[in-house]
Parts: sequence; C-alpha cells; structure tokens
Amino acid sequence: MEKKRVFLTRNLHDFALNDLKKQYKVEIHSGKIPIPRKTLSSKIKNIEGLICFPYDTIDKELIDNAKNLKVISTYSVGFDHIDIEHAKKRKIRVGYTPEVLTDATADLAFSLILDVMRRVSEGDRLIRRGKWNKIFGAYDYVGTDLQGKTLGILGLGRIGSAVAKRAKSFDMKIIYHNRKQVSKIKERSLGAKFVSFEKLIRESDVVSIHVPHNKETDKLFNKNIFQQMKKTSFLINTARGKIINEKDLIFALRNKIIAGAGLDVFEHEPISTSHPFTKFQNITLAPHIGSSTKETREKMAQIALNNLNLGIRGKRPQFSVGY
Ligand code: NAP
Repeated sequence: MEKKRVFLTRNLHDFALNDLKKQYKVEIHSGKIPIPRKTLSSKIKNIEGLICFPYDTIDKELIDNAKNLKVISTYSVGFDHIDIEHAKKRKIRVGYTPEVLTDATADLAFSLILDVMRRVSEGDRLIRRGKWNKIFGAYDYVGTDLQGKTLGILGLGRIGSAVAKRAKSFDMKIIYHNRKQVSKIKERSLGAKFVSFEKLIRESDVVSIHVPHNKETDKLFNKNIFQQMKKTSFLINTARGKIINEKDLIFALRNKIIAGAGLDVFEHEPISTSHPFTKFQNITLAPHIGSSTKETREKMAQIALNNLNLGIRGKRPQFSVGY
C-alpha cells in the first residue's frame, strides 16, 4: 500500500521526523518562514496529514484545497490560525499541544514583567551604547518594585494560573478576569480575586494577557482601554499579538498613556527592525519564545506526533480541538 503523505511547514526534532519518515511520505518546508501561502496551498493539495505552526494561516480556502486531509496537528496550544469550524465540517481532526507548555510560557511572561519593571533589557542596551557613564543621580535609572503592586491577569486558565503562582511568591496583589469566575478553592490557593474587565484595567500596575485570540478578544486592547489604564502601568502579552491594536499601543507609549510593555507576540510575525516597537526603550521584545525551552519543545513535538498519528487514522487526537 502506498504511504500516506505528511507535510510540515517547519522542521521538527529528529526523533519525531524519524518516526514520521518510517510511516509516511514526509516533506518539510525548508524555505522562507512563515511558508508563503501559495507554496502551502500547493503542498496541501494531496496530503493526508499536516503539521503546522502558529504563523501558518489555515483558512477555509486552504482547507478546501486539501481534498485528502485527515488531520491538522498544530505545534501550539493556540489555534486561532486554523478555521476550526470549517475543519470540523470537513471532518478533519485538529490536534494541539496544551499543558506541557504552561510553565515555560508563564516563566516567559514573568520574565517580561521583571524585565520591563526593572528595566533589565533597557539597561543592557544602554551599556552597549556606551551610556552607563551618563547615570549620575541616584534617581536617574530606576525601575519599579513588584512587591505590593497589583497584577491583573486577563485569562486565569492554565498559563494565567501559573503566572499567578509566580506573582504570589513576589508578594504581588493578584486580580483576574475570565468570562466565568473560577472556584473559590482555586482563587484561595492562588490568592487571586475576580474583578470585572473594567476594574482589572483601571486598578492593575501590570496587566498580563493570557486569553486565546478569537472574535471576542480581537484588538481588545485599544486606545479606549489604554486611556483607562494607570499611567504608571505595564502591559505584558504572551498570548497572541492580534489581541492588541498595535497602532493604539504605539500611540499610548509615545504619549506616555502607559509606562511600558513586554511583548512576545505580534500582529504579524516576525517583525522587522523597522517596526515602530523597536524604537521604544520601554518595550521589551521577545521573538515568540513563550514555549521555547528544550524540554518543553521536545514534549510538544511528541504530542504533535501523537496527534498526527491518531488523526491520520481517523481517530481522536491525544489533545483534540473540537472533535
Ligand atoms: P486556557 O487554559 O484555555 O486559558 C484561557 C483563559 O482565558 C481561560 O481561563 C478562559 O476562561 C479565559 N478567557 C477566554 N476567553 C475570554 C474572554 N473573552 N474574556 C476573558 N477571559 C477569557 O489557555 P492557556 O493554555 O492558558 O493558553 C492561553 C493562550 O496563550 C493560548 O490561547 C495561546 O494563544 C497563548 N500561548 C502563547 C504562547 C507563546 O509562545 N507566547 C505559548 C502558549 C500559549 P473563561 O472561559 O471562563 O473565559
């Protein structure tokens, strides 16, 4: 029997590739990242299995182009880049990689909080530009204490809760907003208090975003929201870039409406050196590395592989979106 065909939009760990190659006819995109739409559109035509990444937009048109596709296995917990409803209609399984990346992403979110509040990366840039000798006063280059400050977590799910755990040990006050309040037991163990979105925005010294990107959260952070935040507050985003209206954030930072930002995700990735964000000293930028540790990425590769193996046989993936 002819081997089923699998396409990967980026390279994956050797152990996963070796396993795939034993079972399927495998092709890996090796050119420009993200894979150009035209290339993906032609590659997807005859395959049974796809391993994709958050940069790849798998929309209705692309799915309709993939007549034999049985499974889309995304190497991420976010799945806003895939038209899930349409995949379901076409009876294509969709697998994703939750849980294993929770701690790594929470660590990254917390490192961005520390970085912007204590101005670590800014200091690094200052030294590299030969400006250390310009800091004369004891007050010339100061950051902000975390202790006693209010951290507002938007989305107290897996990652948001892991961020709360970290913030508790830094003696921060924790407030959060979800569509649905979590259990009292969970609130008590995390030391987190449920508030409305408006209160979260107004009262937080740091707002950390951990909601998925969808129609409800698209461009949720805009001019109007920034105006309601404290002038001294920081915005951290390790969820998805499209949750923030970037133009409005640039306006807010330029006009000192908020104090700074730590960003791991962007509206269009990767961003270039000409992106306005690169001109601000009070933004720390990370190249979408929330889950990017050796250990976590290996676990994600194993799950992506398991999801593909099950889905291609018409079975429910280990971690399945929808059906
Ligand atoms: P999760 O466990 O599903 O948590 C999401 C939380 O957001 C839930 O508590 C949910 O509670 C809340 N929520 C959803 N929609 C909301 C809305 N409209 N308003 C307020 N709260 C809302 O997901 P997770 O595993 O923590 O991951 C969160 C996101 O992080 C992912 O979707 C992904 O995009 C992103 N992520 C990024 C990286 C990276 O590399 N930077 C890595 C991993 C994950 P309710 O349902 O009660 O509202």
